[in-house]
Amino acid sequence: MALQLEQVTKRFGDFTAVDQLSLMVEEGTMYGFLGANGAGKTTTFRMILGLLNTTEGSIAWNGRTISYETSPQIGYLPEERGLYPKMKVLEQLMFLGQLRGMDKVSAKSASFQWLERFEVPHYTNKKVEELSKGNQQKIQVIASLMHNPKLLILDEPFSGLDPVNVEMLKKAIVDFRNNGATILFSSHRMDHVEELCEQLSIIHHGQQLVSGKLRDVKRSFGKQNVRIRSDFPLEGM
Ligand code: ATP
Repeated sequence: MALQLEQVTKRFGDFTAVDQLSLMVEEGTMYGFLGANGAGKTTTFRMILGLLNTTEGSIAWNGRTISYETSPQIGYLPEERGLYPKMKVLEQLMFLGQLRGMDKVSAKSASFQWLERFEVPHYTNKKVEELSKGNQQKIQVIASLMHNPKLLILDEPFSGLDPVNVEMLKKAIVDFRNNGATILFSSHRMDHVEELCEQLSIIHHGQQLVSGKLRDVKRSFGKQNVRIRSDFPLEGM
């Protein structure tokens, strides 16, 4: 069971946003997808989920094409957070959980369990718009994983969170991985990827500069005299 991208390209008109990208995320591992703004991370995720067509190449999870709408095996945290501001937190989570195939009872109990875990159990009856941006993000993270997906795709999961909440979320996704899930997440921060991931890719202007195990990536950049900073993937590009 793995997620495999082979020579995937996405063009918007004349512009190539993702250029012949190949990668393999093995089952039960965490994979970091690093790149600066505009590198092509979100476009890649949207192609994996079937929300965007590829121009060229193939994408398979367990040997099959993914359709996000129909597959309860997948969880997705989109970069542009998509909660309904007027809906109450519990209603929202139950609605999204049921969209992902859960029945009402399990959606409710998973909502309570995760709200407790993220230390926001008192927000159940608040409208989403009344929450801070960071707390809205926690709700969106819960929505992405409450149905226990086998593959979890997180687009910049730590952006907008304070350090305490970053640590809380890291622990939750490590536990999730330890329970057997496969996790792919994007970031522009090397330190997050370094701490969490078995493997990574660095992309720049849609092209994969390097991929593999962390030590190999570091060695490869060392040879090219490119220093990897912790708060940004690449210097001197
Ligand atoms: P960020 O973190 O800033 O979102 P990213 O790595 O996720 O960066 P993408 O959102 O994938 O980057 O965008 C990659 C490039 O493709 C950008 O230059 C963006 O402007 C362009 N792009 C994305 N979607 C479209 C579209 N629908 N039409 C035209 N260009 C697009």
